Amino acid sequence: MEQEITYLPHVACPSCGELSAIGHTTKGSKYTWWCDNRDCGKQYGWVQNPDDSITAEPTGTVVKYNAALLKMEPRDKPVYLIVEAIDSAAENQRYFYDEHTCPTNYFSKVEGIYLGEDPDPHGLFEFVGSVDKNAEDAELSDFEI
Ligand SMILES: [Zn+2]
Repeated sequence: MEQEITYLPHVACPSCGELSAIGHTTKGSKYTWWCDNRDCGKQYGWVQNPDDSITAEPTGTVVKYNAALLKMEPRDKPVYLIVEAIDSAAENQRYFYDEHTCPTNYFSKVEGIYLGEDPDPHGLFEFVGSVDKNAEDAELSDFEI
């Protein structure tokens, strides 16, 4: 079955320039989005214009970041990730992803997540809890599971 691949749109924060995924959009609809840069965290109200550009206005809110734990229960369908990869022979990539690297290393390069053929699998990961720490400093033992 031939399928079209879709990618999530990203926008640059008007304040710091950090690129953030903004999810699925509809032209003319208004959305709220906040900067992914932990040192910025400014929130914007924005609208996607008819020419696909974005008009963003600051809301005055600054988001504080912490660490959240998510879990994915076993599924009866495979989960697929589309990631930015180095152009290399398939056998080299197979070794890299199957044996060499930790998934933590490529999750920041994920451009799409599919559950089976569903390209928008809301609820794939379930929220478990959060702690008042930077995510990079958090460990599983920090959470109540
Ligand atoms: Zn920013």
